[in-house]
Amino acid sequence: MRLTRREILKTFLGAPFALAACREQSPPARFPEGEVVGQNATLGHILREGRTFEVPADNWKTVKAAIVGGGIAGLSAGWKLKKAGLEDFVLLELEKDVGGTSMSGIGQPVSYPWGAHYLPVPFQENTELIELLDEMQLTEGRSENGDVVIKEQYLCREPEERVFYKGRWYEGLYLHAGENEDDKRQFAEFQNQIDHWVNWRDASGRRAFVVPSANCSRDTEVTELDKISFAEWLRQNNFTSERLRWYCDYACRDDYGLKLEQTSAWAGLFYFCSRVKESGDESQPFITFPEGNGRYVNHMSGRVRDKIFKSHVVVSIVQNDTNVDVVCLANNELRGFRCEKLIYASPIFTAPYVIRGFNEAAPFSASEFQHNAWFVANLFLKDRPKPRFPRDFPLAWDNVLYESPSLGYVNATHQKGIDHGSTIWTYYYPMCHEENSRTKLFNYEWRDLADVCLTDLVRAHPDIYDLCERVDIMRWGHAMISPRPGFIWGETREKALKPFRNIHFAHTDLSGIALFEEAFYHGLRAAEEISTAETRRR
Ligand SMILES: Cc1cc2nc3c(=O)[nH]c(=O)nc-3n(C[C@H](O)[C@H](O)[C@H](O)COP(=O)(O)OP(=O)(O)OC[C@H]3O[C@@H](n4cnc5c(N)ncnc54)[C@H](O)[C@@H]3O)c2cc1C
Repeated sequence: MRLTRREILKTFLGAPFALAACREQSPPARFPEGEVVGQNATLGHILREGRTFEVPADNWKTVKAAIVGGGIAGLSAGWKLKKAGLEDFVLLELEKDVGGTSMSGIGQPVSYPWGAHYLPVPFQENTELIELLDEMQLTEGRSENGDVVIKEQYLCREPEERVFYKGRWYEGLYLHAGENEDDKRQFAEFQNQIDHWVNWRDASGRRAFVVPSANCSRDTEVTELDKISFAEWLRQNNFTSERLRWYCDYACRDDYGLKLEQTSAWAGLFYFCSRVKESGDESQPFITFPEGNGRYVNHMSGRVRDKIFKSHVVVSIVQNDTNVDVVCLANNELRGFRCEKLIYASPIFTAPYVIRGFNEAAPFSASEFQHNAWFVANLFLKDRPKPRFPRDFPLAWDNVLYESPSLGYVNATHQKGIDHGSTIWTYYYPMCHEENSRTKLFNYEWRDLADVCLTDLVRAHPDIYDLCERVDIMRWGHAMISPRPGFIWGETREKALKPFRNIHFAHTDLSGIALFEEAFYHGLRAAEEISTAETRRR
């Protein structure tokens, strides 16, 4: 049954706001154009049918290795194989473009992200990631203590963040305006806790929280934190301040698409501690581009361009005695790739549908890799909204609405220093407020979701309907792996890190956290496993 506008707004923006929006706002004189873009929705159906696929005998190609999935993990694996001198491989991607959740769009005046939009400057220990940044010419050497120095133009410029609260914009993400003495005390105490965990080291000198997470301590003092929710951890530490809880809840929604109550305390603290070098330091600065992490996608895919097969849906993987047979559906034609080793860089929950015999031998429970759903909207504006007050805090890179369940928007022209005229805003909405959010998301039409986004933003920008010419929407059914309590340090993830015969898994899912660095790490790890075996054989 079709929902009314008020019901849809209530679902996404809450009852009081939906009521007010339907009562107080007169219908806009004009509604922008747009469409739902991306994501091949037919894959799920094809895979669930469990069909058998007969590839014509002359449509087989033999290669040393195949990579399934062209997100950051798959591209990183390809980048690494090529660097290791292993050239005989293919990368198979179901969409018509590579990038996965880091893909971007080309627009005017700049390109824009459809998902991931930043990378914090890595610590000096993350040498392979720094190697990539060097190769992309984003760096200008090392500091005296060996830290990588990123060229100024790629570090997020000021103002970085602002938050909208009760009709005004304020600097930063934590809402200091209007805080009382108890809020201040609790915020300071929270910082002390972060400092404690930033300084913490186990007996072998490992940090509690660091990126990539494979280097985090396994000491029970730290891993125990995975057994409770971040909300519970805040309760146990007497953090009751509403704005502090909002700040932590925002962090969970932002990095994990989960609410405070749904997120593991380990993951909550990882967000705040893993990118802080020493206690008292700020979090590492952000590297960003108008197209977000699409910049890395374009660079790495450029390096392995001749290996990429786009619009190739992998529908079946069969492990034989010595080979792995991969079957793809490419424009209604079946193609086969026979390889010795395979890197599975697709979301892990899909493994039982694609890998034949997976369930019978079940090395781990793939259904425990649970994702949440998001929708992302790109708004094409012909000009900037006027400030509501002459001295309101100006447009920043990241613009967050305190009273909204969305994450607000990122301004694509910010990093280019284009502060006037047309721009593109990327609006992010994690569907953590609804059960069965994935199914529901795909039942909403473009107009419903565009309406949610504009109704949300009009509270801060009354002239948004006059300025917005187009809204395109991407529905991410399986956006991010969910670090719910028990998942990060449970046994499932650990088991999935081991190869299943000749199949090596590589996806950010394997970290239990969706981040560029994690996907990159697993891509490199899987590529190394393959190239080391190859070198040994030679
Ligand atoms: C809205 C959003 C915002 C984000 N923001 C950030 C951010 O700012 N910074 C950050 O670090 N991270 C961010 N992330 C997370 C980040 O995007 C991921 O961690 C990273 O890009 C994951 O890469 P991946 O290769 O592991 O997986 P994916 O991106 O999931 O890539 C998997 C690929 O496999 C392909 N595939 C799946 N099945 C098949 C099949 N059967 N055959 C062939 N191909 C297949 C998919 O099409 C896809 O291209 C964000 C994620 C989302 C959803």
